[in-house]
This record gives sequence, C-alpha cells and structure tokens, in this order.
Amino acid sequence: MAQCILKIALDTPLNALFDYRWHDDTQDELPQVGQLALVPFGRREITGLIVGVSDSSDVPEEKMKQVLVVRSQLAPLLPQWLALAGFAADYYQRPLGEVALPGLPKNLRVSTTVALDRAIKKLAKLPEAHDARPHNMPRLNASQQEAADAIGGVQGFKPTLLYGVTGSGKTEVYLQSCAQVLARDDDAQILILVPEINLTPQLEGNIRARFPGIMLATLHSSLSEGERMLHWLAAHQGRARIVLGTRLAVLASLPRLKLIVIDEEHDPSYKQQEGLRYSARDLAVWRAWQLQIPIVLGSATPSLESWHHAQSGRYRKLELRERAVKNAVLPRVTLVDMERDKPVDGLTAHLIAALKLRMERGEQSLLFLNRRGYSPVICCESCGWISNCTRCTSFMVLHKPEHRLRCHHCSLELRIPRHCPTCGNVDLQPLGRGTQRVEEGLQQLFPEARILRIDADSTRRKGSAQEAFDSVHRGEVDILIGTQMVAKGHDFKKLTLVGILNPDTALFSQDYRASERLFAQLMQVAGRAGRAARTEGGSASEVLIQTRYARHPLYDAVVNHDYDHFATALLEERAQAALPPYLFQALLRAEAPELATAIAFLQAAKDSLAHPAITINDPIPMSMTRVHNVDRAQLLLESASRPALQAFLKEWLAALRAMKSRVKWSLEVDPLDI
Ligand code: ADP
Ligand code: ZN
Ligand code: ZN
Repeated sequence: MAQCILKIALDTPLNALFDYRWHDDTQDELPQVGQLALVPFGRREITGLIVGVSDSSDVPEEKMKQVLVVRSQLAPLLPQWLALAGFAADYYQRPLGEVALPGLPKNLRVSTTVALDRAIKKLAKLPEAHDARPHNMPRLNASQQEAADAIGGVQGFKPTLLYGVTGSGKTEVYLQSCAQVLARDDDAQILILVPEINLTPQLEGNIRARFPGIMLATLHSSLSEGERMLHWLAAHQGRARIVLGTRLAVLASLPRLKLIVIDEEHDPSYKQQEGLRYSARDLAVWRAWQLQIPIVLGSATPSLESWHHAQSGRYRKLELRERAVKNAVLPRVTLVDMERDKPVDGLTAHLIAALKLRMERGEQSLLFLNRRGYSPVICCESCGWISNCTRCTSFMVLHKPEHRLRCHHCSLELRIPRHCPTCGNVDLQPLGRGTQRVEEGLQQLFPEARILRIDADSTRRKGSAQEAFDSVHRGEVDILIGTQMVAKGHDFKKLTLVGILNPDTALFSQDYRASERLFAQLMQVAGRAGRAARTEGGSASEVLIQTRYARHPLYDAVVNHDYDHFATALLEERAQAALPPYLFQALLRAEAPELATAIAFLQAAKDSLAHPAITINDPIPMSMTRVHNVDRAQLLLESASRPALQAFLKEWLAALRAMKSRVKWSLEVDPLDI
C-alpha cells in the first residue's frame, strides 16, 4: 500500500507546510483535509491543520515524523473555510498556519483529547432550538422596510451600504433582514459583526428578544476558553443560527452562512493592528463574494472606501435619512468658540449652563473627551522638566486616583514624584486635561450630580463596563464622561446633551485619515443625543463642540450633519493627492535598538527589488519613534494596481526572508496608520 503523507499547516512564522507520515498500522479511517492533527514539532507537540493528503513527499522518509493523533471527533473544516484562510494568508502575506490556527479555540489545540471530548459532550446537552419565528418585531417605517426587503429578500452576492443617520433604526433593518433569511432557509446561518466588545450585550439582548427560538453564539475576546469553545463549536456544527462577534468572528467556521451584517462598518477597530493585520470588513466582503451571499455594511459615516464603492456602483446604497422614533430628531450642533467663552476647568460657560438645564430637568448629559488619565503630562515650572517616558517617545500620563504616572505605550508605571527630579521643586503641575481631571472639575461644579466616568481605566475589571452602561440606561447617572468607549452605537434614551471637549488637535494631524476619523467620531458621539422622542417640557437635543477653530470646514459639515458633501470633498482630495482608495499601499515596519539599524534594513529592502508599477518611498522613522526602548521605522509602498502590488509583495518578501536580517520586521497590507 502507498504511504500516506499529510501536508500540515502549523502556527509558525515559517512560510511552509509540513509533511508528516500517517501510520497505516491501525484500523482508523484515513485522515481528511480540514481535520486537526497533533504532531511533534521540535521538542513540542502542537496541533496543526491538515490541508492536503498525498502519497509522496520531498522530505526523505527517515526524516519524516509521524502524526500522533487526528482529531476525528471534530467534523473537518470545510473547503470554503480553508479557502477563506488561504485567501487571507495570501492577501496579507502570512503563512497559512498563522492565519488558520490562532483563531481556533485553545481547547481544540491542546494535546489531550479528553478535554475535546468533554467539550463536545457539553455542547450536545445544549437545548436544540429550531423555531426561527421572530417575536415583537416593531413596524418598520417605509425606508427601513425597503432596506430590509432589499437586503433580506435577495440571494447572491449583493454588497449593500446601509447609509443611515444615527438613530435611524439600522439595527431593526438588520434584524428584519435576518428574519427573512431565517424564514426562507431552514438552516441558514448569519454572521453579525460589531466593532466593539461593549456593543455586543445590547445587540445580543435585541437578538434574543426577537428570536427566542434559535441558538445564538457570540465570539469575542472576553469569553472564557470554555465558552469560546462551546460557541465556536455551535457555529462550526451549524447549530448556532446567528453568530454575533467582534472582528475575530469573521474567521469563524460557518458551514451554512447565508448573510453577513457589518455594523458601524467605518470603525477602525475592524482592523487588527498586530500579528495578522487584517481588515475584518474586507475579509467579510470577500467571504460574501466567495459564497455568493448578500452582505450589508451599515454606518452613519461610511468609510471612504465603502462610499467610493457605493458611488461607483460596486455596492448598492440604501439610505435612512431620518430617525426612526417618532418625534426624535437629529440634535442641533453648536460650536462654542473657546476664544470668546474662555473655559474654566475645561468647561465653557455655555456648556455649564446647558449641563445645569439638563440637571434641573432630570435629563442625562454626555461629555466626550478622547483622552484618559488626569493630565497627559506633568511639568516643573521652575526648571522646565516634563514627565517623559524613559523608554518611549511619549509622556508619562498622570493618573491621579491611582497615584501613578503611566506610559500608555509601554507598561512603565511610576509613583508620582514628590518633587522635581531635576531641581527639587515640590510644585509639579499637571498640564492639559484628561477624563479624570474633567470628572474632578465637574464634581466641584455640580456636587449634587451623579457623575460617571467610563474609560479604559474605570472599566478594567471584567464586567464593569457593562455595569456602567447598564446604570446609564437605568437613569442612575446625570453626567457621563467618557472616551471613544461611550461614543459608539449605544442607545442611551434619556440623553439630550452631548458636550465635546477639545477635539481640535486632530484637525492638524499629519495622518491623511485624521479628518475622516474625526468627522466620523464627532457624528457618532453627537448621535448619542436625542434618540428618544422629546418629552413634554423636555429639552431639545443638542450638541456643543468646544473649539478654537469654529470656522473649520470640518465643523461646518458636522453642524449641518452633512456627511455627503464632506465625503465627496474628501474623496476628491484623495483622488488629487493619489491616496487610498485611489491607490493601494503596503507598509514595511522594522524595529531595532538603534534607529540607524532599522533604517539601514529598510533601505536594503528598498534596494533589493524594483518594479515600474510600484513606488517605494524612502525609509522614515515612525512618528512615535521609540517604544519600550526599541526604535521603529517604516517604508511605504504604493501602486495604482492592487494585483501588481500583490505580485510584487510575494517576490519581495521572499527576497527579504532570504536577507536573514536580525532586525524584526513586519509587513502590513492596506495599512490604516501610516
Ligand atoms: P442606529 O443603529 O441606526 O443608530 P438604532 O437601531 O439603535 O439606530 O435605533 C434607534 C432607536 O429607534 C432604537 O431605540 C430603536 O428601538 C428605535 N426604532 C428603530 N426602528 C423603529 C421603528 N420602526 N419604530 C419605532 N422605533 C424604532
Ligand atoms: Zn524642576
Ligand atoms: Zn513608555
């Protein structure tokens, strides 16, 4: 009998598949492509993915090791899933094993089979639920209905951009599209992606209320390993009809996937920023194309990429122009000129008066400041010392309640110095303002107010973010202050005032995407106000933006809720400047203890290969050059042709690997931050 060789993808940086022998001395069934196998690798035993079964190998027989166990309890991953992982590996230029394996639950990858059996048994005990009939669906308005029919009623690859203002009821459109797909197809599965883990409970609640008779699985990073395994398997076995998750869920195994929903599609969180730097949104679109199924991308402020596709007709655009709740209208946005109305403790008189009014009427207010900590830096006024991080090109941020200075880029933490380390002066001053400092000022201003701060520091404990959001929903908070964590997606019903503090810095960023992001962020946070109907005697919803640049065109667009013109103007600028989406980019990053080493590596990389369709810029230090005692530099590649860039990268990476440099480097395709 011919020998049986398994081609196995392993989670290693080596860009290769590995050959292993399958023992033929047992009665076991032959292994299949898509199954997981435990194999010896160096001194360890690790789990890999079988991607090929063959009767020959280039590896000499005596060198080839034998597979230890094939996980036959688990149904093989389907060819379509392998193709998805293969596409992602190919497009983002990473080894297949690094793409396919880390997304699988850890318990599937451990070396004992006992754990796996026990899990699988647990899943069998979950109640089977088959009744996909929706409950308590509200009546949609005409544009919602049109959208739901257009999304849920079609089959085949149909990417739809659902462009709906904040509060226009996009969630309802998703749910009713889901209802249509589930009703049509007895075992259809649906994937719903949200950008932030904090948004899953709200949507999970909505889905459970509407579809009490189906199995819902959630996939995000804060599940325990046991839960993750259970939910992943429910998806893999086709039993979970709806899978709700954050970006990592885009790689879930979903054998009967029939519809994909991407909520807040513009959100940068869909981009993974380390390891496999993929865009979950882009992979989802590819997945929909592969399976020839509909996909909906929803946003009040679509990414320029998606807007461009909608303008060019590649995506179909559906619009929701008004808020769904009767008598709920978009808030009035006013710019408060900080040159005239000088802020005290960060708050202008105009904003303080508006807060006071909400307090009197028992309504909620939200203050948005995208900077956590007490102050971004402390300084000595007598000698000029400032709290730089000794390991990074950044400041140590003052965290007053925690009595610490913290660097937000490396893990360095120090006690607050009692006196200036250079001159001994005891009077060190905080410079600038973060959420903690605003909170402190508010407490003095409104001693009777129930003030809640929500940011990464106040929500470190597991579950505390949800508790905080719940207490806002229950009306136990008068003034909420928070970072971008509070800006997105939340449907706070009693909120009628949003104050935006200090957004100006982003206006003058070198990052060409900064204005697109700032605009989206302001529109999102503004969209938290006035989501319920205005009550008798209640305030009209309003947004106050404190700025020194009240005449900036970006603010003009926010005041007028005018995404269309703003996006069109930005796209024109991008076209003229030859920037994405009119151009394709890849970024090579290098890090080394000395900047010169990193730059020299990038220069050598640049000189190693050339192609007329590819522009390779000069290596430059990254804007935050030093992090944790490592210097970082980057090299930007550009091309008008995506296929040309892809082809070039393959050849180029082979050349880079052959350089065997000791510099640590990584490549990012379609980088967001450059
Ligand atoms: P978006 O996601 O577009 O910002 P949501 O889906 O959160 O908006 O909806 C905003 C609010 O409108 C929610 O409170 C929702 O319950 C309500 N809503 C949505 N559709 C309808 C409808 N057809 N009738 C009444 N209320 C609706
Ligand atoms: Zn000093
Ligand atoms: Zn640091």
